[in-house]
Amino acid sequence: MPAQLIDGAAIAARTKSEVQTRVRELTNLGHRVHLVALLVGGIDAGALYAQRQGEACRAIGIDYTLHKLPATITQKELKHEIRRLNADASVTGIMMHLPLPSHLDAPRLQYEIDVVKDVEGVNPANIGYVVYGHTLIAPCTALSAVELIKSTGVRIEGAEAVVVGASQIAGKPISLLLTEQMATVTLCHIATKDLKLHTRRAEILVVAVGKPGLIQPEDVLDGAVIIDVGINRIALPDGTKKTVGDVEFDTVRHKASHITPVPGGVGPMTVAMLLRNTLRSAELHFGTTK
Ligand code: NAP
Repeated sequence: MPAQLIDGAAIAARTKSEVQTRVRELTNLGHRVHLVALLVGGIDAGALYAQRQGEACRAIGIDYTLHKLPATITQKELKHEIRRLNADASVTGIMMHLPLPSHLDAPRLQYEIDVVKDVEGVNPANIGYVVYGHTLIAPCTALSAVELIKSTGVRIEGAEAVVVGASQIAGKPISLLLTEQMATVTLCHIATKDLKLHTRRAEILVVAVGKPGLIQPEDVLDGAVIIDVGINRIALPDGTKKTVGDVEFDTVRHKASHITPVPGGVGPMTVAMLLRNTLRSAELHFGTTK
């Protein structure tokens, strides 16, 4: 029997609605939720993404300001801009669109973002809080993967969870959040000797690599929950392009119990998690956390 689809778009819509309700309550108390996004240089993809992000924020009552900065800005100038926003009481959240021009050191700049205003959870202190079990703000993609697993109702505690891909924004924080949920976690990466050995015993399999077709049906345990974080644009024989994940969806879905589609799985949920984190930052800023 084909797996149950994990409908990221529908779950994201519910999450956004919950965030909207709370943003309205805060607004009624005189607290405006205000996200400032930094966009350096004129990257088209970044500008389009920022525009959509602004629309998503405004649709649920979050003020959104896009600061467009010249590609020639120096590390020192950008650091000062972030520090200025940290000190601005009218700003409740800050994020920086990537990539940055090559003369800028993105991680060092992300480290400058105030821990409470860090809506993407990229300040190392925020990862540190996750490790110590006192999560303040976790990275959005990782939250998205874990929320989608929770949505299945499958027990995470004690489950064999395998995460493939060990990036700072996806694989590593996903493995930390699953450890926090008491799964037994294996983190596979480029140096893993026998990837299939691990994926075949995974009751929960999260794949965040960026390689279409990496996971085939023979690599998957019967009845596994599969979260496909990958987003890849592939060319079809007729010359058109299609977005796919890292998992061979059409075949693997016959072995899994639950699976995320690409598109429509982790992607929309990550946007919803950014909005939820933006609310969380504001609650921490105003001291209104429930
Ligand atoms: P990334 O920084 O390139 O990280 C990929 C990770 O996978 C790296 O640790 C890499 O190791 C590892 N890797 C490469 N080949 C591997 C293999 N054969 N087996 C095991 N591990 C392997 O990418 P990312 O930013 O984490 O993104 C991963 C994918 O998720 C991309 O397709 C991206 O577009 C997508 N993504 C989606 C969302 C969303 O919201 N849906 C958000 C973020 C990312 P090395 O670095 O050592 O090669």
